[in-house]
Amino acid sequence: GAVPADSIDYVFKVVVIGDSAVGKTQLLARFTKNEFCFDSKSTIGVEFQTRTVSIKGKVIKAQIWDTAGQERYRAVTSAYYRGALGAMLVYDITKRPTFDHVARWVEELRAHADSSIVIMLIGNKADLAADHRAVTTEDAVEFAEEQGLFFSEASALSGDNVDKAFFRVLEHIYAAVS
Ligand code: GDP
Repeated sequence: GAVPADSIDYVFKVVVIGDSAVGKTQLLARFTKNEFCFDSKSTIGVEFQTRTVSIKGKVIKAQIWDTAGQERYRAVTSAYYRGALGAMLVYDITKRPTFDHVARWVEELRAHADSSIVIMLIGNKADLAADHRAVTTEDAVEFAEEQGLFFSEASALSGDNVDKAFFRVLEHIYAAVS
């Protein structure tokens, strides 16, 4: 439901990045609206969605930004990263190249975002793991540890681990700002 503006203690901007078609828009829709839309990309142009949550008794408005397809044209600009306190860096566990490109996205974050940004690596489409997995959990865990990222596999389709991953990022941001 609606939350009166004056009851909001914090607004946290979180950006969602990663290769095209890894499920960024659907993860955002799952977290902010508890929806999954099979006819994706109908919402192009929408810059961010919000969800208001409670953490340690504080009211936090999470403002989750979507690239709206800009990553296709390598046009994710520094304005997109400005003020971001968290980043969900998404790859598709069924598409190896999307994981191989994660290092490049980390460089992009280090170049454009605040150095204290909380980064969560997300291996999306975990619902397809049984038949189509192309990236092992171990490879991702190792990469995340090397780079100091949080990590979770998740599924925007089933909803598995989506809230948990976003909450982990929001809680770590809260711990840093409070
Ligand atoms: P984006 O380009 O990164 O924003 O990716 P989208 O959110 O548009 O998703 C790309 C495609 O992957 C769409 O066809 C989605 O329906 C599909 N997709 C997204 N998340 C999942 C998921 O968790 N599981 C499965 N099986 N498909 C997904």
